[in-house]
Amino acid sequence: MERKVQRGAAWSDARRVLKSVRDVMAAARSAEARLERMVQVIAAGMVAEVCSIYVLRAGDVLELFATEGLKHEAVHVTRLRVGEGVVGQIAAHARPVALADAKSHPAFAYRPETGEEIYRSLLGVPILRGGRVVGVLVVQNRKPRHYTDEESEALETIAMVLAELVAGGELVDPAELHPTDGIALLPLRLEGARLNGGIGMGLAVLHRPRVAITRIVAEDPAAERERFDQAVSSLHTALDDLFAAADLGDSGEHRDVLEAYRMFAEDRGWLMRIREAIGNGLTAEAAVQKVQDDTRLRMSHITDPYLRERMHDFEDLTNRLMQHLAGNGQAALAALPDDVVLIARSLGPAELLDYDRARLRAVVLEEGSATAHVAIIGRALGVPVLGRVKGVVEKIDPLDPVIVDADHGQMFIRPGEDVQQAFQEAMQARAIRAAAYVSMRDLPAVTSDGVSVTVNINAGLLADLSQLDETGADGVGLYRTEIPFMVRSNFPDVNVQTRFYRKVFKFARNRPVAFRTLDIGGDKLLSYMPPAGEENPAMGWRSIRIGLDHPVLLREQLRALIRAAAKRRLEVMFPMISEVAEFDAARAILDIEVERARSRGGQLPKEIRVGAMLEVPALAWQIEPLLARVDFLSIGSNDLLQFLFASDRGHPALSERYDMLSPAVLMFLRSVVERCAEAKVPLGICGEMAGRPLEAMALVGVGLRSLSMAPASVGPVKAMVRSLDLASLEPYVLGLCRRPDRSLRAALKGFAQDHGVSL
Ligand code: PEP
Ligand code: MG
Repeated sequence: MERKVQRGAAWSDARRVLKSVRDVMAAARSAEARLERMVQVIAAGMVAEVCSIYVLRAGDVLELFATEGLKHEAVHVTRLRVGEGVVGQIAAHARPVALADAKSHPAFAYRPETGEEIYRSLLGVPILRGGRVVGVLVVQNRKPRHYTDEESEALETIAMVLAELVAGGELVDPAELHPTDGIALLPLRLEGARLNGGIGMGLAVLHRPRVAITRIVAEDPAAERERFDQAVSSLHTALDDLFAAADLGDSGEHRDVLEAYRMFAEDRGWLMRIREAIGNGLTAEAAVQKVQDDTRLRMSHITDPYLRERMHDFEDLTNRLMQHLAGNGQAALAALPDDVVLIARSLGPAELLDYDRARLRAVVLEEGSATAHVAIIGRALGVPVLGRVKGVVEKIDPLDPVIVDADHGQMFIRPGEDVQQAFQEAMQARAIRAAAYVSMRDLPAVTSDGVSVTVNINAGLLADLSQLDETGADGVGLYRTEIPFMVRSNFPDVNVQTRFYRKVFKFARNRPVAFRTLDIGGDKLLSYMPPAGEENPAMGWRSIRIGLDHPVLLREQLRALIRAAAKRRLEVMFPMISEVAEFDAARAILDIEVERARSRGGQLPKEIRVGAMLEVPALAWQIEPLLARVDFLSIGSNDLLQFLFASDRGHPALSERYDMLSPAVLMFLRSVVERCAEAKVPLGICGEMAGRPLEAMALVGVGLRSLSMAPASVGPVKAMVRSLDLASLEPYVLGLCRRPDRSLRAALKGFAQDHGVSL
């Protein structure tokens, strides 16, 4: 049967097609029968000679389930892998494809059983549900023709309706696509990334914000617009109430995060696009969903961390708006168990606040990074957060028992008795130890033979500074200034930075804070400074290299620090210094800023101490001239070790390959200790190494007397120091350093055991 094709016209009445599609959906027939009718209706409505629906099956195969126009023998016979042919490409990239001449497309895969060789043009869209591709909808025309954006959008809207049918479970057993369901009752251990440390146990609560959309097409667009406007206004009020009630304290980055989020809720472009979709005949819910699907598609290939965060904020807002449209914006979340482990693909900052903090034991996400907004809120709330756990949402059932060990980047689903018991014991032991550490809070970190060790914390959020009091640490050995830059959409100006650093001084009270200047690049990206597409970012254009190439960044940061310090002592350290000349250049910028402040009559810091971080091995061979210039030196062991061993610090396959407790590392550190002692320059260390009791013992053994670490490590490290007899450790460690062993770990553990050192 051949239909008359009207070029470029006729698709205008998308609403009419939607109505017919909805009628088919509502008909009391089997899913297969509805699908068959659907392709006829769509082909007729869209004035296309072919309409076909491919459904995703196990093994990432797209199977032709229904067609109008292609040969019927091809149904359930034609199968394409995701990525294969134009249809497979649409699924692989989750993007619409419009081709005036499909055969000339490089991915075109001809299937003789379909008889499609007579059709030239093709428009295909992914069928998406919950952000995942569940099928592909295609129309084809015999003559070459250009499909317009409006036509593509109309087909996407139809695909939304189809998604419910395709994913409804009648056409393909959902278990086929999620084979893990079959072993759902087995215990499972999954790995992820620690976004906020700690251990939590409880029952899984799946964050299911999705509201099932039952009506796609609106009878009365004006009434829909009215409903939408009401929902938006109730959303705004509810957000204000939520943020006002949040038990988070008034200052800190989380406030910035929430303010930015509140602004997105009023984003004109977002609201306008939804109103437009309502104008095109969708219900308010369907319009919100459509705009979200569009945004998700546009952003799916974006790696920029700030934009991805925005994406999460919009997901969060969309879900919230849906709840308001459904009339349950204020409704409490369904009854929660007493101990909740919240599981989500991603979570917006406000969504986390919806859950009762008193019941929340841990959060597990499929996505997320340490600077994700939800991680920042998690830290402010003190809830362990484990991120980047692949496929967790599919692998877990509601109310499954879960243990989250964010400290070690792992979680256990339906753990066996033995694992549960082990963790319960570990948590009890932790609680006892934590109580012991609290009692040690006001005691000095002095070895049993009277040697003092400075114990500092590393901080990056204002929330971290409260740990100074809680742990009794001496000060902040590393303040990572880049984190506030990472949660913003553009460079904070001097005033914003000054206000921020003033808060740091205020929270630290009289304790010293070593401000590290911006250490961006590598794995710490800013959206407003796109990465240079480097092959080797850790060794690339990062840190002080950026600061020296764009001195305005460094200048402004130093100006803000000088202003904020007014009359207090200012400690500044420059990261990733590779040669003395770099230190000189950075220092010269600081000197000019100090002079500038002086000449303008501003308040100057009462003292300025300037240090360098030793993270690049080359600097160790220029240490004498360096020590003649610096007021202190701080070893960044995370970067230093990756460069000493030429071994990526984040590479999972290499994480065990070299041991930081190796003779080479300890010898290197010993020689730095000796040079600093000769030059009488204070030396500290602020990488992860300093926060592990055994490693910290070795560091004290080779002569380090100032350690800076994550706040959670202060108690254990203090306990180690106070139980240590340095006079017996020192010669022992130095003896070990001459051994050819790859690791001294076992020997050091043995020493600790024999000498009653608390680890
Ligand atoms: C280090 O490299 O050890 C360090 C403290 O810096 P960062 O981990 O922030 O790179
Ligand atoms: Mg570093």
